[in-house]
Amino acid sequence: MQRAQPAPSKSKSQRKEKTPPEVPNIIVDNERNIQYEKGKFLGKGGFAHCYEITNKASGEVLAGKVVPKHLLVKQYQRDKMAQEVQIHRNLSHRNVVKLFHFFEDRLNVYITLELCPRRSLMELHKRRKAVTEPEARYFTYQVVEGVLYLHDLKIVHRDLKLGNLFLNDELQVKIGDFGLATTVETDERKRTLCGTPNYIAPEVLNKMGHSFEVDIWAVGCILYILLFGHPPFESKTLEETYSRIKHNNYTIPTSASSTSSQLIRQLLHPDPERRPIAKAVIRDRFFKTGFMPDRLPVSCLTMIPHFN
Ligand code: ADP
Repeated sequence: MQRAQPAPSKSKSQRKEKTPPEVPNIIVDNERNIQYEKGKFLGKGGFAHCYEITNKASGEVLAGKVVPKHLLVKQYQRDKMAQEVQIHRNLSHRNVVKLFHFFEDRLNVYITLELCPRRSLMELHKRRKAVTEPEARYFTYQVVEGVLYLHDLKIVHRDLKLGNLFLNDELQVKIGDFGLATTVETDERKRTLCGTPNYIAPEVLNKMGHSFEVDIWAVGCILYILLFGHPPFESKTLEETYSRIKHNNYTIPTSASSTSSQLIRQLLHPDPERRPIAKAVIRDRFFKTGFMPDRLPVSCLTMIPHFN
């Protein structure tokens, strides 16, 4: 197998991040006898590069996640990827990215996914900063619907963040990237987490054991960012951010509506046992009172929408 030779001055991790995988223009799923044409590059994560791919026979356009096999040499790396696919492959919900198939060729492992052409809430946030309360209500409600579905299946996502909340052309939210997800029994507390979630909950920082409540915490951070344009515990250093999380040190702008601030306080409760479960969040007053759009125009990715 031909592999690009690394520049001697670069560290192993830099090399891994910078080198895009060698991906053939025609990707072949031999088992199902499907050929895909590789299209435009969509983005990259820790391990994967993602491309638009078109099923040559049906014309269907999907997202193809490509992980080079040379990044899966160690057993724990393979186990982690297997766990991600194992959890994700059985899921079917309008607010969860659909995983269709996975297969490999000589160079890479491929996962075919429902295409989310409107990128993620991260890009929306970068463009718009704070969004209107109806928009925050619309997006967060869909996130909670997805989370409720996962929690019913005893799955904790553990890395809910704006960048993992993808958007299709109708601006429906689709939860993706199950790289840190795990399954839990009802009374089980997880002790380990291989990776650093973006909106890390205090019980994870304090190594108290964690479960479903970490996703509820993350929903609190997401709602906060959507409404106020910055994360609740944001600071100059990670150390300071972690200290603020441990002390539940955040403020809600006085301009916030009372329903939004009450919900945020519940979601960001320092004691995981006192946070509401997903089923209670979905019934919260914040979602029942105030305007909830049925759909949002694509223009809201860049501009404040005008609701009539
Ligand atoms: P990793 O598991 O390596 O972190 P991600 O799942 O975050 O990879 O995917 C990497 C990038 O690929 C994302 O940030 C996004 O830009 C793009 N991407 C991932 N899934 C999709 C999808 N279903 N539709 C469109 N783009 C996607």
